[in-house]
Amino acid sequence: MASKYGAVVQESLDALLQDDSFMPNFSGEERELAFDSLEAILSTPNQIQKSFLRVPMENGKILRIPAFRVQHNNALGPYKGGVRFHESVDEDEVVNLATLMTLKNALHEVPFGGGKGGVVINPREYSEKELHTISKKYVHYFSDILGPDKDIPAPDVGTGEREMDWMMGEFKSIHPGQPYRGSFTGKSHLNGGSLGRREATGKGVYYTFRYMMHDFINDNKDWFEKNENLFAKTAMEHYKRDLTFGIQGFGNVGSVAALEAYNCNYIKTKVVAVSDRNVTLYHSDGLDINALVKYTSENDGDLPTSDEALSQNGIEADIRDREDVLYLDTDVLILAALEDQIHEDNMEKVKARLIIEGANGPITMKADDYLSQNGVLIVPDILANAGGVIVSYLEWLQGRETQFYSEEEVNTMLLKKMKETMDQVFPQFFNDPFPLRQNCYMHSVMKLSNTLYRHGKLY
Ligand code: GLU
Repeated sequence: MASKYGAVVQESLDALLQDDSFMPNFSGEERELAFDSLEAILSTPNQIQKSFLRVPMENGKILRIPAFRVQHNNALGPYKGGVRFHESVDEDEVVNLATLMTLKNALHEVPFGGGKGGVVINPREYSEKELHTISKKYVHYFSDILGPDKDIPAPDVGTGEREMDWMMGEFKSIHPGQPYRGSFTGKSHLNGGSLGRREATGKGVYYTFRYMMHDFINDNKDWFEKNENLFAKTAMEHYKRDLTFGIQGFGNVGSVAALEAYNCNYIKTKVVAVSDRNVTLYHSDGLDINALVKYTSENDGDLPTSDEALSQNGIEADIRDREDVLYLDTDVLILAALEDQIHEDNMEKVKARLIIEGANGPITMKADDYLSQNGVLIVPDILANAGGVIVSYLEWLQGRETQFYSEEEVNTMLLKKMKETMDQVFPQFFNDPFPLRQNCYMHSVMKLSNTLYRHGKLY
């Protein structure tokens, strides 16, 4: 099955086919064949596994719950990617997300391939005991294909430290005497998880924005001032200005990115809107993000939904529809909820000129084209939200070495890695007429192609 991202991979390969300096050993018909081979490898997963987990409920009923593990590509290392618990999970979605993981790891030179898993449930409808059984069954059904050197799951939408701890425990029981610490990442610290892993994605998302709009422009100011590139102009319009933020999603990614923006000393930022599955909260002078984080931590992750709850907690905000965050007149929009949030039917209503993708695939291809043509600078998922998998890699390393890093060390390594990637990608991006997504894909596809060629896979 070709993934949704197959088209962008194809575009990158088409561009590389024309570039004679790329893979110069191939020419003529041989070159076309090698590129066909690359296209086939990168646009299809190596393996799709589906199972129905048989789970006894507390009321005595037995459910058969569909579950997936997709292993997209492992040219660069063991498959790596989260397990999602969500009612909208289906095979296509997991294939798409696994493809993104391959591209994300390649872009940031994390030595992993791409994989993804999913279980079709709304975790809010299950008791803790039932979720424990579902997590264990997931490992049980896929135990042959998982492992520290094969395929390493991590948290994703609807899963977190608790589920990873349960899953690693089950993996250890199924494979006695084998290394297990690196079998799952995103575990609790007490169970071998890395300090800073929970915050890593949100921190990385905000850092990408800050690095681009502050450090990178500062270091290249003269060049930016002369630059006629559409996206460089968008960036300059927002440089050294007070910026307002809207943040869709207030979970692990959105709330941490909101805190980073709220506490940022580099750029004058004001988070004027945040949203979750129920509401958008808006305040033109800026929301009290500390108070909102405290509230959600005490209320099952949900933002306040009534004026009463707001005033009892001393929070000033207007309550709006949950989608409104997308259409408010903010400078920056961070998308940290689910995929396909901006699409053909609502793309014209989006006013923000800078969009950062904290979630995977939050903008459809059509909407992406439309916004990019209008000069909206979109920082794509594979660049912006890689903090999670980067710190997962550090966790995996710490598990192997049984040596643990301080939170400060983890954060320093995280930001260094993200900076290195941006330093590779930005100079070309701000010179080319192509959107940043395409630029990032080109980098990933180049890296993967070179590796596949050296592995002798392009026959
Ligand atoms: N689920 C996260 C992602 O989409 C993290 C994956 C990982 O840490 O392996 O990047």
